[in-house]
Amino acid sequence: MFNPQKATGEWQTLDARHHLHSFTDPTLIESEGSRIIVRAEGSTVWDNDGREILDCMAGLWCVNIGYGRRELSDAAAAQMALLPYYNNHFQSASPPMIELAARLAGLTPDTINHFAFANSGSEANDAIARLARQFWQLQGRVTKRTIISRTMAYHGSTVMGSALGGMPHMHAMDGGVSNEVVHIAHPHWYLYGEGLSRDEFGLKAARALEDKILELGAENVCAFIGEPVQGAGGVIDPPSTYWPEIQRICKQYDILLIADEVICGFGRTGSWFGSQTLGIQPDFMPMAKGLSSGYLPVAAVGIHDRVYNVLADGGHLAHGYTYSGHPVACAVALANIDIIENEGLVARVRDDIGPYFMAALDKLVDSSPIVGERRGIGMMAALQLVKNKDTRELPTLTDNASIFCRDYCYNEGLIVRAVGPSIVLSPPLIYTHAEVDQTVDILGRALDATAKKLGV
Ligand code: PMP
Repeated sequence: MFNPQKATGEWQTLDARHHLHSFTDPTLIESEGSRIIVRAEGSTVWDNDGREILDCMAGLWCVNIGYGRRELSDAAAAQMALLPYYNNHFQSASPPMIELAARLAGLTPDTINHFAFANSGSEANDAIARLARQFWQLQGRVTKRTIISRTMAYHGSTVMGSALGGMPHMHAMDGGVSNEVVHIAHPHWYLYGEGLSRDEFGLKAARALEDKILELGAENVCAFIGEPVQGAGGVIDPPSTYWPEIQRICKQYDILLIADEVICGFGRTGSWFGSQTLGIQPDFMPMAKGLSSGYLPVAAVGIHDRVYNVLADGGHLAHGYTYSGHPVACAVALANIDIIENEGLVARVRDDIGPYFMAALDKLVDSSPIVGERRGIGMMAALQLVKNKDTRELPTLTDNASIFCRDYCYNEGLIVRAVGPSIVLSPPLIYTHAEVDQTVDILGRALDATAKKLGV
């Protein structure tokens, strides 16, 4: 059996020898070694040397209920003993997938009543690209194929997921965007507002979609995809005018609207879904991460009735993964939803810990000379680092400000993330007030050190 007890150096050597990491420069693994995390409880993880680190990223924005919940491991063990695997192909189903689909229908907007399953957010978005194009094809509108997305969007790492995303470094890796995807600018008021109020800018940013549709011809446009609040692009919460205008444009030009809920879903914004917080009525809702709080890989695609009705009349559906609706993953997702519901975590984010977290971060905007703005809602936030608050001059790559700040936090026992010149935070929804205080305390010191390094 696998022996988890090895010295850190041994793990690092084996790791460097055999493992290609995600989103990492392999030379760093060889020169510095990887961080070996071995155990977790609540909002805290421990490394192989017993060092305690507060996880203000909930893993990768996913461990919404916190670590170490026995209800989920018990659900997995029970389901694994009963039925470790069966699929949903060729007219088959198992009770956990049926129950999960029904449960999700009760949590999502009234118009969303059918769910397709996948194993990751990327796969969910791949599935949507196929289903959305099929929706139009089945109605004889075969040219409606182009999907419009946004710069700095993140929709996954598969071929379609990375094309849908708006990350230049990801596009560069495999030779540019393909797959009939185009991008409009993301609605980042602080950087691109140029004298407009937030609301004016929200309308302007949304109308870039209309311009793009007119340029391409609505008869060629399949869908618009957006995260209610852009996450991995730097927690970009749009002005309140943005989504209603996007909604109007999609309706006017008969374009499907995809709200990527992979981060925003399951309470993170203070509603079950970001679409509810921001007033979006999507045709497709991909979800993953918080669906199982990351305990097992599982994703789902919520499908609007008007889309389902067309697909349902389209004959044999040539799509599916071996593990679509995996019974163990679905049983774990159900146990996770039970906890979110029974412990009132959504209301906790909306009324208690979310406002407390934002207020604590706002104090850093006031106290630090290098924090230009705090963005975010609920339990997802970003601090925008600047060299000059008046001119909004950003640190350059060579200033290395956000990475320095992130690493300072890590060395002090706090996990945050650096996205461009921003520090990003997305703690578990069970984060305590004391953990918020500890976060802000460490972050405050990290920002002071970063300001000093920048000479501000
Ligand atoms: N969509 C969004 C909004 C995401 O944040 C992510 C992952 N960070 C994905 C899709 C892709 O999900 P996965 O990594 O599970 O494939």
